[in-house]
Amino acid sequence: MQKGTIQVQTENIFPIIKKFLYSDHDIFLRELISNAVDASQKLKTLSSIGEAKGEFGDLIIEVKLDEEKKTITISDRGIGMTAAEVEKYLNQVAFSGAEEFVKKYKGQNENAIIGKFGLGFYSAFMVSDKVEVFTKSFKEEPAVRWECDGSPEYMLEETEKADRGTDIVLHINEESAEFLDAERIRGILNRFCRFLPVPIYFRHKEE
Ligand code: ADP
Ligand code: MG
Repeated sequence: MQKGTIQVQTENIFPIIKKFLYSDHDIFLRELISNAVDASQKLKTLSSIGEAKGEFGDLIIEVKLDEEKKTITISDRGIGMTAAEVEKYLNQVAFSGAEEFVKKYKGQNENAIIGKFGLGFYSAFMVSDKVEVFTKSFKEEPAVRWECDGSPEYMLEETEKADRGTDIVLHINEESAEFLDAERIRGILNRFCRFLPVPIYFRHKEE
């Protein structure tokens, strides 16, 4: 098990995300699904150039809602991440000058700002008290679990995961309880997630 601090220029990125990028909270789902699509497409590309071998199964993406546990989980069967990649891609947020930038452009196309800063993944914290990532790379390396509660401290440890790919588990915060609603999620998926190159399935625990 390992603990560390997410590397951001500003002291804490999360209050910024919450405060300045308040208006359009439902973009978290689009950001996480687009990462899942990217991960799936990368696997196809690596396979086509012979860098990833084997049978990949169906590269589908699943969105699961569990109202009881107050979680939304986005799962893909894409390339996954090794521990080193989690370190590199999730813990080192290059966010220099972003606070000023966001202040300056507040109110103007906040989605674009999030995209520009590669804050895609971190938009999860707009709606979550805690985010867990379970991921297993297509490379022969142990699966890992990353957890962060919205402070810059994170936790990374080895874990068991049967399948290749990534599960992002969002523990939805109280102010975002509106997203623990199947119709709300369906609505977002219908708006943002049509015409994607990977099929997206929605599973609601109650159904
Ligand atoms: P961007 O998508 O613009 O690179 P993000 O903040 O959305 O920025 O994601 C950061 C990085 O984390 C991605 O580039 C990718 O390397 C990694 N990542 C995020 N989600 C996944 C996922 N589901 N599977 C594999 N890698 C992921
Ligand atoms: Mg992204």
